[in-house]
Amino acid sequence: MAFKALGITNNDIVFCSSLTFSATANPIIYQNATPVFIDSEKETWNMDPRALEKAFKKYPNPKAVIVVHLYGTPAKIEEIRDICNKHNVPLVEDAAESLGATFNKKQTGTFGKFGIYSFNGNKIITTSGGGMLVSDNNERIQKVRFWATQSREPARHYEHKEIGYNYRMSNICAGIGRGQLKVLDKRIEKKTNIYERYKKSFEGISEIEMQPYMANSKPNHWLSAIILDKTSKIKPIDIIEALENENIESRPIWKPMHMQPFFKDYDFITLEKEKSIAQDIFERGVCLPSDTKITDEEQKKVIKIIKKLFI
Ligand SMILES: *Cc1c(COP(=O)(O)O)cnc(C)c1O
Repeated sequence: MAFKALGITNNDIVFCSSLTFSATANPIIYQNATPVFIDSEKETWNMDPRALEKAFKKYPNPKAVIVVHLYGTPAKIEEIRDICNKHNVPLVEDAAESLGATFNKKQTGTFGKFGIYSFNGNKIITTSGGGMLVSDNNERIQKVRFWATQSREPARHYEHKEIGYNYRMSNICAGIGRGQLKVLDKRIEKKTNIYERYKKSFEGISEIEMQPYMANSKPNHWLSAIILDKTSKIKPIDIIEALENENIESRPIWKPMHMQPFFKDYDFITLEKEKSIAQDIFERGVCLPSDTKITDEEQKKVIKIIKKLFI
């Protein structure tokens, strides 16, 4: 809906984070537009502003930029916004994973022309499914609400001048969402404690580093993710399997979009000569159990299983 509101259509170019979940990129294809994927930087794992600048040199006229705040860690969003403003290109933020996370005390999802949030079952708060679009442009929001509720013209007999969509949230789901919104701060606190405990526990292991974030940002720590040193003999799959043996689920990092069979033929902009940062993080990273329901005992067990691999 954000892309439609921005008028994105056949063969328009949209710059998109490569290291993300496919839901960031899919709507580019829904609009018959062309994604150009952008590499990550190492300080937040999100879109590298320098790679974005490089993309603008190759494609001076993209119709939008969409950037993700991966695992709830804010991207270098002010730099990215400034680059977009300089080139007069609208910015859309995929804040699906980062509800409540801030950059310079400002909420992720509110820097661009549009921000999107997800209330899917796995997110920090959920309505079982669905999401939310935000913008400071009331006219655009009204238009999206119109499309999302089947484009019904104000006429008794159901008049349709435009194609409609059934993208609205049901009142029951919205009610659940409003209830959950009240516990968001508590969830962020819990997720932050989980992240901090992992961080402290792995301090003695030089091969493990937590997903980093900018000092002027506050992630919601939706997922605690680690990256293993290049020299580490232990690989992500060793950790995943060791946990799996104890019936504990962990996951690799999202496989970058430029490596996905569906998207691999689209262009990818990186500053690296050999391996991209996105691919490197994908190959060396692990998402650890981060559910707010994890108990201290359970997290201790996870930490113990991982630590055992390194001695
Ligand atoms: C969950 C998620 C979405 C949206 O998912 P929906 O299932 O459509 O709510 C979009 N982007 C990212 C990065 C996500 O993690």
